[in-house]
Amino acid sequence: MLWTSAFLFVSVPQANPKNPHNLPIVNTTKEYLNLVKKDSSRVLADLEKFIPGIVLDVRYATTNNITKTVLYKQQRAFLLKPAAEKLKKVQEELAEEGLGLKIFDGYRPYAVTLLLWDAVRDDRYAASPDKGSRHNRGCAVDLTIVNLKTGTELEMPTPYDDFTEKAHLNYMKLPKQVLQNREKLINVMRKHGFETITSEWWHYDLKGWSAYPLLDLSFEELDTVHN
Ligand SMILES: [Zn+2]
Repeated sequence: MLWTSAFLFVSVPQANPKNPHNLPIVNTTKEYLNLVKKDSSRVLADLEKFIPGIVLDVRYATTNNITKTVLYKQQRAFLLKPAAEKLKKVQEELAEEGLGLKIFDGYRPYAVTLLLWDAVRDDRYAASPDKGSRHNRGCAVDLTIVNLKTGTELEMPTPYDDFTEKAHLNYMKLPKQVLQNREKLINVMRKHGFETITSEWWHYDLKGWSAYPLLDLSFEELDTVHN
């Protein structure tokens, strides 16, 4: 028996460090282009080009994030086209009140999920690499509301990526105005086809996200196929 176990152990192939759980991940531009060719809704839309007036503050392109390291080489945000189209409607609706969206993160390559998991290791706040993140599917967005003229953020319960109870959607010990601001964001996002999660006021998922594959292409790789 001992011999059999030892034999099984040595015969296990080495895990791929970039995909330790052997998940089905689209990680070459060729595979991505094939997907898009079959179904044009699989394209990742560049939000700055797709949604006029949208503001970016992509924290993983700076050291101002949980890992204190720069994880993206560029200040960019992408979402799968169906999610980007819905977000455009949100932006249009908010604009009627002189408000708009500020994006903290959108599509996130799977390689970055591995780095975040190393830093956080709590599946309430970061996706476990054995499942991957909805951000990896281009279906999740982290965002808040700003005043379009001044760029000032509406006051929300916590700053972005504050992993405390205060960021939970059921946390009520907040000033009335803050509760109203959080409610405004929830209502406008739900109205246009996004779902909330309980632990982060800033995070929204496209309804039907599970139909889309995990992706691991850098922003630079996306540029090589989009232009
Ligand atoms: Zn998120």
